[in-house]
Amino acid sequence: MSYDNRKMIFDIKQKGYLKSPELEKALLDLPREKFVSGALKGFAYKDVPISIGHRQTISQPTTVVIMTEALKVKSTDKILEIGTGSGWQSAILSKLTKKNVYTIERIRSLVNQAKENLKELRIKNVKISEGDGSNGLKKYAPYNKIIITAACPEIPKPLLDQLKVGGIMVIPLGDYYSQEMFVITKRTKTKYDKVSIGYFNFVPLMGKYGFEEKKSTLK
Ligand code: SAM
Repeated sequence: MSYDNRKMIFDIKQKGYLKSPELEKALLDLPREKFVSGALKGFAYKDVPISIGHRQTISQPTTVVIMTEALKVKSTDKILEIGTGSGWQSAILSKLTKKNVYTIERIRSLVNQAKENLKELRIKNVKISEGDGSNGLKKYAPYNKIIITAACPEIPKPLLDQLKVGGIMVIPLGDYYSQEMFVITKRTKTKYDKVSIGYFNFVPLMGKYGFEEKKSTLK
């Protein structure tokens, strides 16, 4: 357990973002340097996003903490993550639930890298799929919790459909440059509450219900 990791976690806790002891333990057990490569490992415990190749990033630790706290994970939750990236967020979620974490990524080499990362850490309850996560992952639906780790122009309808009544979704909504993070609680099959928890910057969610589709409709 490195001093740098403990210091990073301590700082996030001091700022008041990190509250749950289970999440703190997960962060201590899952060194972020395992999820970044080469010379970038030197930045692993800085509170910044880091490139993971293919113009994608592993999210900033404070952002991961804020989103994970907002998800209020219970040990019985089946969780879906859209945007596997390095696998760090899914690894963290895997420590908070006894059920499976399903995660989907559209870039094949990131899927393969994330599989390697999780294998090395002997994490068995994360199931990684390749594909367009803006459609969700119907095969294993419904989910108690859904987390989207890429910027969305709107809430993808399939994701709302695949969330259980009573379930929570955390999603950054906005344009390419800035997004507002919302916590969505599904109240009935057709009604949900939406609470803002601040502004963030994410890489875009591409795909049918993401930005690609929007751009192509402008042609
Ligand atoms: N959660 C990741 C982690 O812990 O490293 C960071 C995610 S990164 C900020 C966003 C990821 O979303 C990128 O890896 C990107 O390729 C992926 N992505 C974008 N659009 C997607 C889509 N339609 N389906 C699945 N993944 C998508």
